[in-house]
Amino acid sequence: MRDFDHTFFQNRACKYFPCHKGVDEEDFNCLFCYCPLYFLGERCGGDFSYTESGIKNCKSCTRPHGNDGYGYITGKLKEK
Ligand code: SF4
Repeated sequence: MRDFDHTFFQNRACKYFPCHKGVDEEDFNCLFCYCPLYFLGERCGGDFSYTESGIKNCKSCTRPHGNDGYGYITGKLKEK
């Protein structure tokens, strides 16, 4: 198991773990359980879609939870 630090955290006791498919469980990062990039709308760069009622849907996106989730999120937040 990976060591926890300020860039990585897991909560395997969560009943939803792993909440997104497509990331190896050993590398699954729970740090950004609620993605801080949601407010960026289409500029988040993630794999979102829209529901029929026009709500941004992040169900298929693994960017915050992947091996470099921390780097991706903090990098995007630094963009202007
Ligand atoms: S989870 Fe993915 S699609 Fe949703 S806001 Fe974050 S980066 Fe964008």
